[in-house]
Amino acid sequence: MRNAALGLALLSFVTVAPQPLAAQQAPPTGQAAPAQPPRGNPADTEVWEPVPKVVTPGATDAAPPSDALVLFDGKNLDQWVATRDKSPAKWIVADDTLTVDKRAGNIETKRSFKNYQLHLEWRIPPGVTGAGQGRGNSGLFLASTGAGDAGYELQVLDSYNNKTYANGQAASLYKQSIPLVNANRKPGEWQTYDVIWTAPVFKADGSVTSPAYVVVFHNGVLVQNHVELKGETLFIGKPVYKKYDTAPIKLQAHGDPSPPISFRNIWIRELP
Ligand code: MG
Repeated sequence: MRNAALGLALLSFVTVAPQPLAAQQAPPTGQAAPAQPPRGNPADTEVWEPVPKVVTPGATDAAPPSDALVLFDGKNLDQWVATRDKSPAKWIVADDTLTVDKRAGNIETKRSFKNYQLHLEWRIPPGVTGAGQGRGNSGLFLASTGAGDAGYELQVLDSYNNKTYANGQAASLYKQSIPLVNANRKPGEWQTYDVIWTAPVFKADGSVTSPAYVVVFHNGVLVQNHVELKGETLFIGKPVYKKYDTAPIKLQAHGDPSPPISFRNIWIRELP
């Protein structure tokens, strides 16, 4: 038995052993091999600096790496304020999760950001009620440019068997970009957003030098692939840009009557 196992192990080693270079680069049948070896020095195209700084990854890909700023770790809302008056954020922190208090209104980060990578987890409550936009509605504003819902909203909604307009379902850039696929999990299950936000750049007169771009993974599935935004996400009317430099990140307390959703494990890495 042991010998058989050893034989199998040896066989698999032989199978994966590196092949000689000539065998790897053999030309297709019928073509002559190159007459001359490649010219030039491979070192000419080697770049040694800058050396990337070392970042220690989290224990899992969902955990914050060593250079992340943790915005919510389940314990408190120290990094957040109420959008309406910048007073301490009043949503409910319990059992390592953050639950929306709809009466308290939107909350946003104390700090402002430009370009970044963001991780956030959200959960529609089990037994959620309502339909369409009235079923677990919230939102992740990638840049909050003012009071209320001003800014750029990545929609949060129960879109597991819940029909609504496609450019307003979960993982849409609200009324601007339909997600590539519907990667929703069931109510009661935690879901992830991983976002790369490239902020718009403005001239002094407010005109746009470079629009905003967004990449979004929903539960690890690519749903927004370097999408160019046409301006802020609006409930009514066509999107327009409004000049800003850096902005907080905002979470939406939507007024729909369905039971409130929850968040956890929110962290950000600022990018150049
Ligand atoms: Mg919303």
